[in-house]
Amino acid sequence: MKFEDLNLSKELLRAIEDEGFSTPSDIQEKAIPKLLEGNVDFVGQAQTGTGKTAAFVLPLLSQLCFKSNEVQALILAPTRELANQVHEEIKKFGKYIDVRTLTVYGGTSYEKQINGLRKGRPQIVVGTTGRVMDLMKKGVLKLNNTKQLILDEADEMLNMGFLDDVQEILKVLPPERNIWMFSATMPKPIINLVNKEFKDPQILKIEKTTLSNADIEQKYFLIRPKYQMEALCRLLDFETDMYGIVFCKTKKEVGELGVELLARGHKVDVLHGDLNQNQRDAAMKKFKAGHVSLLICTDVAARGIDVNNLTHVINFGFPQDMESYVHRIGRTGRAGTKGKAYTLVDPHQSGKLRYLERFVKTKLEPAKLPTVAKLKVALVDRELASMATLVETVKEKGEEFKLDETYDHFKESLEGLSRDQILKVLFSQKFRKDLRRYQDLGELDAKEAVRSERSFSRGGGGRNRRDAGRSGSSRRSPRRGSERSSSRGSEGAKSGSGSDSSRKRRRPRV
Ligand code: ADP
Ligand code: MG
Repeated sequence: MKFEDLNLSKELLRAIEDEGFSTPSDIQEKAIPKLLEGNVDFVGQAQTGTGKTAAFVLPLLSQLCFKSNEVQALILAPTRELANQVHEEIKKFGKYIDVRTLTVYGGTSYEKQINGLRKGRPQIVVGTTGRVMDLMKKGVLKLNNTKQLILDEADEMLNMGFLDDVQEILKVLPPERNIWMFSATMPKPIINLVNKEFKDPQILKIEKTTLSNADIEQKYFLIRPKYQMEALCRLLDFETDMYGIVFCKTKKEVGELGVELLARGHKVDVLHGDLNQNQRDAAMKKFKAGHVSLLICTDVAARGIDVNNLTHVINFGFPQDMESYVHRIGRTGRAGTKGKAYTLVDPHQSGKLRYLERFVKTKLEPAKLPTVAKLKVALVDRELASMATLVETVKEKGEEFKLDETYDHFKESLEGLSRDQILKVLFSQKFRKDLRRYQDLGELDAKEAVRSERSFSRGGGGRNRRDAGRSGSSRRSPRRGSERSSSRGSEGAKSGSGSDSSRKRRRPRV
């Protein structure tokens, strides 16, 4: 099938061509015609990186009424970064039509967003729930004629911490509103909730043999927690062309890893919910532009974030739950490219592996760290490679190669030593510290799994996602890390709202 067969306008087809898309992905092929029929509540489940954004943006843009100045569609995303990304996609696909779109989220000034709403008259608003509700309550974001609600990462949006907000927003929308939901994971409790709460939803699941994307090679390394930092450094030392994301469970872990990796000369940046929005934006921008090769982060970047051609995702320990694993590793292997996902596993938690494998319907391959011998050779080779151009220049220019005048002083001081002795001095100075670190710690792979901790927290609930990587100032609560900035303060696990009680366990703030 081609995009031309999908009944899209020529302006949209032109924009799709500009993007370089030749054929629609499975989810696009199946969802777009259904959504274009109109008046449908829809749940689309397809693996990570398979083009779900275009699957909802294209039919949405086809349905806009350009004469109206009202907000016709609201798209909700779990993080500010994802809201921005969806907004960018709308702009790309809508570049030949007169689409007006605005993002609203916390951590940035109200003024610009209020002006944007009043003067920009957006037809589509993309946002995170906290700021959407605040702007609704201020009376600037009027949703009483908004007939289209889209939940990206829908299972997350219907999870504890977001569900109350989504339901409150739903109350404001007109009764004839339609809801489209998309995600790579749809745990049963969420599907049950959808069936209960939304009128006759059409559920489309792109069936694959695996839940995780088959383009991702999944490996695990058994490493005791106290060696995991060193193990990670060794992987980075060895696989030098990594462009990827390292996921940690806590902000503290992110900070510590960031400091250590920077000290060891790796180009990394960090992203978590305690950074202010400018810092978050800067980190994301630098990473997307390839100025840093690794982003160390919490689950704030686990959902939806699309960075081209990431080679690796590394889990610094297991994530909180199995869905997070699928989303985290799904940052690589996108749009048909290949990727690698490594998970550093505490041998005491190795029992979880079987559960994870059953959940993703894939075997994770056991792997060993590069040996100390290999790491040492790689270290020397790396230095030699970085010196190669200089060596060539010195060879070519010979006597003419100019150095600082203190070179003669240096040379005189080493007089009397043989070539071999001089090289030994320089080698030792250059490599001793790193070689010794490898040598002293030796091989780090744990000998065997200790079968104890077995299961994950239950999928589709059991998590309070309010804090999931969101940050920003809070007017009432000094607590950082919460997207919500006002009214109900920082309470996240409010009871009621049709959720079952197992969905109220708290998860650590990330
Ligand atoms: P998902 O939401 O399913 O994880 P995205 O919508 O973020 O995936 O898309 C993943 C990547 O695939 C993006 O970089 C997007 O530009 C690209 N993409 C989407 N649809 C197509 C297509 N039909 N052909 C080629 N690339 C596509
Ligand atoms: Mg997506």
